[in-house]
This record gives sequence, C-alpha cells and structure tokens, in this order.
Amino acid sequence: MIIQIQKKICNEYNICIIVVVGVLGLEQFNLGHDNGGSQDRTRILRLSYSACEYIPLAKDTKEAWGEAERESGMQLVYTTGGLDIAKRGTPGHECLEKFAKSMTAQNVEFERYEGQSIRKKFPQFSATPKWISLYQKDAGIIDAALANAVHIQLARKHGATILENAAVLRIVKEGNQTKVCTSQGDFLCKKVIVTSGAWTNDVLSSIGLKLPITVTQEQVTYFATPHMNEFTKDRFPVVFLHTGLPAAPYFIPIHGNTGFKTGLDLGGPVITPHTRTFIPDERRRKKERNYVAELCPRALGPTLYTKTCLYALTPDRNYIMDTCEEAGHRDIIVFVGAAHAYKMAPVLGKILSQLAIDGRTTYDISSFTMKRPAISDPSYPPCFKLDVPVKDDILPSYL
Ligand SMILES: Cc1cc2nc3c(=O)[nH]c(=O)nc-3n(C[C@H](O)[C@H](O)[C@H](O)COP(=O)(O)OP(=O)(O)OC[C@H]3O[C@@H](n4cnc5c(N)ncnc54)[C@H](O)[C@@H]3O)c2cc1C
Repeated sequence: MIIQIQKKICNEYNICIIVVVGVLGLEQFNLGHDNGGSQDRTRILRLSYSACEYIPLAKDTKEAWGEAERESGMQLVYTTGGLDIAKRGTPGHECLEKFAKSMTAQNVEFERYEGQSIRKKFPQFSATPKWISLYQKDAGIIDAALANAVHIQLARKHGATILENAAVLRIVKEGNQTKVCTSQGDFLCKKVIVTSGAWTNDVLSSIGLKLPITVTQEQVTYFATPHMNEFTKDRFPVVFLHTGLPAAPYFIPIHGNTGFKTGLDLGGPVITPHTRTFIPDERRRKKERNYVAELCPRALGPTLYTKTCLYALTPDRNYIMDTCEEAGHRDIIVFVGAAHAYKMAPVLGKILSQLAIDGRTTYDISSFTMKRPAISDPSYPPCFKLDVPVKDDILPSYL
C-alpha cells in the first residue's frame, strides 16, 4: 500500500497548516515475507500475451526494469527466450494462435517451431511430433526476491518512507483528505494507492467496497536436476504449455541456488489469506513431476522444495486499476494484478504514480476499469475454472 502523506503542523503564528511530507509505503508483515504473491526466486517476463493491451506494457516494462538495474547496479532481469507450446488441435493450440495474432498486431517478433524442429532448437525436450510452438526471444526471468529488495531500497533513496509490520486497519474520509489508520498510527493522506493483493477486500471493506476477487493457493516446485548445464538460463527458455485448461504447467530454468522450477497455473484451491496453509499439495507435486518427466525428463531430480503462493484473481483475469470514485473515494486508487502482474511491476508503479499525481496516465488502461462487466456485474461468469480435481494419472489426455 502506498500513500502520499501530509502532516499537520503549526507555524510561528500558531496557524495549523498542512505540508506534504512525501510517500509512505505500508506493509502489514516484515519486508520480504512469504505470505503474499510476490516473493520467490523468479518470475517470468514475457511479451507473449493473447490480449493486445498487455503487450505495450510488457514492452515498456523491460526498459523500466533496466532503469532500476542501472540505478542500483544489480542485475534483475535475465533474457532466456520464451517458448509457448501446445499440442496441435487442442484448446491450447487455439490459445497459441491468439498469442500469435496479438504479437503480430503489436509488432513483436516471434518464430514458429513445429514437431521435431522444437527438439532441434531445444534438445532438452523429449520427442514432440504433435506439437506446435511460438518462440519469443525477449522473454526471460526476473530475480523476484532481489527485485523486491531493490525497489524498496530505491524508493527509500528517493525519499519514500517504508514501514513494515504496519497493518492498515481502516481507511476513512476526513474532510477532503483520507485518513489511513494503521497498527502504527494514523496518517492523513492526499492520495492512497491500495495494492494489497489477496487482502484487497479486507482493506477496502472500511469504505464499503467489495471487489470480485478469488484467491487461490498455488505452488511451485524446484528439482535438483543432475543435468544442470542443460537447464541454465543461457540454454533453456521459460516454457508455458498451453492446454486451455486449469493447472497448465510452466518451466523456468535454474537461477541462483535453486533448481529447475515448475508450477501449474491455476492449479490450487480457493482459499482466503486467513485460511491458506503453507503445506504443499502432494497430488499437485506429483502432477508437476509427471509433466517434467514427460516433457523434459533430464530436468528431473530430487525435489528440493515446494513453495506456496497466493493468486488474487479477477473474473476475466484482467487487472483492476482504477479509482474508487464510484464508492465516493476518488483519491483512493486500487490495483489488483490478477496473478500475472509481477513482470509489469515497474511500469505499473509508474502508471499508479501518474494517476496519483496527475489524475491520468499516458497508458491505455481502459480494460482495467472497475466499470467493466467482469467487475461491476455480479452475474459475470469467471473465465477461469477452479478446483478441477487433480487426478493421480500420469498425464491428462490432451497432452
Ligand atoms: C506461484 C506464482 C507464480 C507467479 N508467476 C508469475 C510470473 O511468472 N510472472 C508474473 O508476471 N506474475 C506471476 N505471478 C503473479 C504475480 O506474482 C502477482 O500478480 C504479483 O506479484 C502480485 O503483487 P501484489 O503486490 O499485487 O500482491 P502481493 O505481493 O501479495 O502484495 C500485497 C502486499 O500487501 C500487503 N498487505 C495486505 N493487506 C495489508 C494491510 N491491511 N496493511 C498493510 N499491508 C497489507 C501484504 O502483506 C502484501 O505484502 C505469480 C504468482 C504466483 C503466486
């Protein structure tokens, strides 16, 4: 949560005046905690999107990460290339064609590899006669844990105050200001930006707003591959297998002191941040292992660890980025990342600050409004399918 704070002081004539103190970031836990959606060793950065509105953001985010790298002297992004793959004739094939259409429309270069040519490019894959794929050279990974720390340090360098263990308890209007009441005191603010992920509705409840956010408990697993040198960042791309169904797998090359990483997109149960556990789901772990065994068997090795993480989903899986004007709070801005926002963090920060300072942004964020049916119409059917039972079988038939 980020707010522009102001402070009441008395001048020499004892007249109360308000001065802008600056920007305050509030975090309910300790910095670097594992309870939300952002903390892990890696996150994927890709330009391959089926919806055109994300591609300009993804293009700019690379440059924005570069700014943070130059200023901090830390490498945050590693370009690995990205492979979107699907089996011919499956719903995943249709997804892939949508990606190809959007990337073509947005002048994003990509290459097609089909059948055995996939294996020629990446011999780490097992035989792929029935597959098609799109390769996009600019995709990569972000060192997420480091990037979080760097962003906080850069914010502090530029004058922001960051308070940890400072939970927002309530937000209330006070005259033409907004008062944010926290476990560490109250702050009078000109603008408030709420980016509280899975806890968004807890924070917004005090202003009477409830957004249709579904929270799921996801997990990723790291394998200690004995063939490390085949799955390094310069030899293996980030991979997303499109099935058109929930629990579709993705693979990430080895980074730092971790192993080969895999996860299932939308694989987990619906929970709340208060009911979630940190216990890995064994059935999903088995499914993750089976996918790796089937597609990239040489990546497999002993399981290093499985890490749980929260998705905060919207019904259409598009972001929410809007003011709470409809609820009578135009100075409160909300962002919800719909479980694909990490890559965009620096550019989203830029847009949110434009909204806070100028009241408008240079980016097209019209798809992210709260007025769209997915957010405003309670009968809007969610486009994601959740709680699909994970079977014990080796692989689903669409592979
Ligand atoms: C397993 C997994 C893999 C993913 N992979 C990718 C990927 O490869 N690429 C990608 O782009 N995205 C990915 N995502 C999605 C991405 O990580 C999230 O969209 C993004 O990190 C969410 O950031 P956030 O700041 O909105 O939420 P969070 O990171 O959850 O942060 C919200 C913060 O608000 C704090 N907070 C909440 N309530 C309060 C309160 N009352 N007072 C003070 N503080 C409060 C929380 O403690 C938390 O720190 C993945 C997510 C998961 C779970």
